[in-house]
Amino acid sequence: MNNLTPLINTALSKELHALIYHLGYCSQQGSFKTYAVGGFVRDLLLGRENRDLDLVVEGSAVDFAKSLLKILPGRLRCYERFGTATLVLSKGIVFDMVTARKEFYAAPGALPSVEQSTLKNDLFRRDFTINTMACALNTETFGRLYDFFGGRKDLEKGIIRVLYKLSFVDDPLRIIRAIRFEQRFDFVIEEDSLAMLTRAINNRLWEKVSKERLYNEVRLIFREPEPSKVLTRLDELNLFHEIFPRLVFNQQIKSRLQRLERVLTEISLNKLPKNWNYLVLYLSALFYELTEHDFKFLCHLMRLKREERLNMLSIREKIPFILLQLKTSDLSSSRLYHFLEGLPEEGLLLIMALAPEPHVQKHVLFYWDYLVKKTPSITGKDLLEAGIKPGPVFNRILKKLHEAVLDEKISGKEEELGFLHFLINNEIYAEE
Ligand code: ATP
Repeated sequence: MNNLTPLINTALSKELHALIYHLGYCSQQGSFKTYAVGGFVRDLLLGRENRDLDLVVEGSAVDFAKSLLKILPGRLRCYERFGTATLVLSKGIVFDMVTARKEFYAAPGALPSVEQSTLKNDLFRRDFTINTMACALNTETFGRLYDFFGGRKDLEKGIIRVLYKLSFVDDPLRIIRAIRFEQRFDFVIEEDSLAMLTRAINNRLWEKVSKERLYNEVRLIFREPEPSKVLTRLDELNLFHEIFPRLVFNQQIKSRLQRLERVLTEISLNKLPKNWNYLVLYLSALFYELTEHDFKFLCHLMRLKREERLNMLSIREKIPFILLQLKTSDLSSSRLYHFLEGLPEEGLLLIMALAPEPHVQKHVLFYWDYLVKKTPSITGKDLLEAGIKPGPVFNRILKKLHEAVLDEKISGKEEELGFLHFLINNEIYAEE
């Protein structure tokens, strides 16, 4: 099959399918030549959808992107100097556009110099053969597969292969990428490529890359479905300790990460809280036993954002105590709420991975599914109407009411009002 139209028509969601055809139409109208390349084509051939679409544009990617923006609502960022543009659409669909170009690397790890050239040249600078395929999008050639470097065969055989001998020297980050793809797809790194990869590791080539680029690549490991496999392989290839100095990848860490992966697949996705962050979650598990000093050092190396760092610190400080409390099976709802309230959401997932006891899992799920939504219907307005003056007493009364609602001692506004008057009459709220 040298035309991917049937796959495009069957393997993609409705909206991405419509967008792809739309891209083709716009290319044709604007006299651009546009190709979907890299991960999108690879995943399409594997029957998967990749919503991060890399496009190579013969002509100017920036002009093409600007023409798209007239029709598709989204956020556009253009980098005129590099001839690239990114259009972020709704529902996690992103178009990354580059102008077809030829590159050479002045020194290992340096930024590429850019000059206009053809599709084949653009594909040649990519990391592995499986990522070098392109699919034409222009209406008249729509769906045509371009496979200059044997990517399809390697994909079918499950092989990660670099395109040329000095690939890892030109960009040592490909070492980590090779391992990531190998583990994600259960592929193998082809023999010669593996020899080049181990040589690159032995020659410490990753040191030539800026720490920022290196750790940006490392962060991607934690977006994989099974980061534990990637980290295990990094360790086998003697790279783990170089990336995470002061941390030993032992069986305990590995099992903890595996339990976390299991928790994430076992909890149905709609149950998961919305705002959690993969990096905070996995790094909290990975750095769990480090001393505070080493923990902070590695957080700094990973270039965590302030909020990520603060959440990790909070998880680290709170979890040991919470774990102890949650092991008690007869915990009242309000006590449970009290312990878990304020813990970052990643912390809740981590608890489930750290404590295998079924009742701890139950506690967390009960908190998540039920307790967080259970709030009193009485508000500050009701308290004012009941004659309570604003001040610390307000919070104390609301807290007592909340506890009574959580423990199901009262239910409904009427009972809450009754309880409020009981508190006021007996001045119970005055106690701490
Ligand atoms: P993923 O499924 O992880 O998003 P992807 O293949 O789409 O995988 P990206 O990191 O989004 O990966 O990169 C897009 C494309 O850019 C890749 O398919 C690859 O062709 C190319 N690429 C990315 N990083 C490099 C690199 N360091 N060296 C060469 N090519 C690269």
